Amino acid sequence: MGTVGFTRDQQITKEIISICLELDKAAVGTYKKFSELSADTHLKKFWMSMSKEESVHVSFWEELMSLAEKGEMPMLLDDPETVLSNLKKSLEKVNSLSKTVNDLRRVADYFTYALRLEFFVLEPAFEAIFYFMKNSLPKYKSSATFYENHLSRFTSALKQHGESTPELELIGEAINKLWETNKDMVLKTSHDPLSSLLNRRGFNNTILPLAHLAARNGMTIGVLMMDIDNFKSINDTYGHQKGDEVIKSVAEIIKSSIRASDVAGRYGGEEFIVYLPEISSDTVYAVAEKIRSNIEERTLGDLKVTISIGSAEGRLFGDIEKDIEDLLKRADNALYKAKSMGKNRVVVA
Ligand code: GH3
Ligand code: MG
Ligand code: MG
Repeated sequence: MGTVGFTRDQQITKEIISICLELDKAAVGTYKKFSELSADTHLKKFWMSMSKEESVHVSFWEELMSLAEKGEMPMLLDDPETVLSNLKKSLEKVNSLSKTVNDLRRVADYFTYALRLEFFVLEPAFEAIFYFMKNSLPKYKSSATFYENHLSRFTSALKQHGESTPELELIGEAINKLWETNKDMVLKTSHDPLSSLLNRRGFNNTILPLAHLAARNGMTIGVLMMDIDNFKSINDTYGHQKGDEVIKSVAEIIKSSIRASDVAGRYGGEEFIVYLPEISSDTVYAVAEKIRSNIEERTLGDLKVTISIGSAEGRLFGDIEKDIEDLLKRADNALYKAKSMGKNRVVVA
């Protein structure tokens, strides 16, 4: 039974975030306690800095929680039910681990405990949520690598205090590797290997939080839908490999024609998409035209490539996902028009 006013996705998002919050709160408390219990000043400081780092995570989750309470947190996970059930198990483990905190004696016991805690909270969903949310929460953008630093500081403290054993080092390394794998997985599942741009799902997950931000701030956003002209004949004439090269260089030109804060994706075979998070009324056309002319000018060897672009802009109200869908549809219709008007042109919806 869902809570009134929330969809199942919104409800499960809230539950997931609340467990993430609880897990990181547990870490803050644990490391604070370790600091208090440590006699050595260096260790005292070290555990306190770990606790402070975890409290950054806590405020991150708190901010997401307040978005989720307002229904402004998009669903960014493919299998939220599994994530939720894994998180519940992790929380149980962390809670039963916490019952052993008073049994800790030697410094190595603390490190072992901390490694277990870090292992339990190493949930791939953490990284996915952070990866897609960081652009719309500028305060946390700079801490994109905080978890890595957190882990590496941990490993070096272990060595520094002469408490390192082959077993502890192995666990530390395993956690690091797992973390790297998580990060890699998020990147791989959200990007297209040929063009290195976001794939359709990565693009959608990236723009949804930005769209909520734009709606909150009343910003006008823009979308460009692009499709390489006569691509079939490029493939037919020069071969599929040459076609792949064209896709790659068109992607590079698109990327270099837009700002770092704009979002570019490969939406299909020879279709690309750009999301402009904030635009003034004339820039949608200007950006589109810049991309179009850059592609026309920069030939691949003696091969001339052109692209057709449909653009649309608007404000978002109410149902963000539906508004975005409508905007994409309008841009797509404009693209269709650009094709029917003779290609290699920009049509503004
Ligand atoms: P239009 O100007 O109207 O867009 O015509 P077009 O030939 O570009 O469009 P059409 O949709 O007929 O053909 C697109 C072709 O793109 C068909 C497909 O084989 C090819 N394609 C899709 N993905 C890839 C890819 O990853 N690599 C290569 N080389 N070709 C691809
Ligand atoms: Mg096409
Ligand atoms: Mg085409």
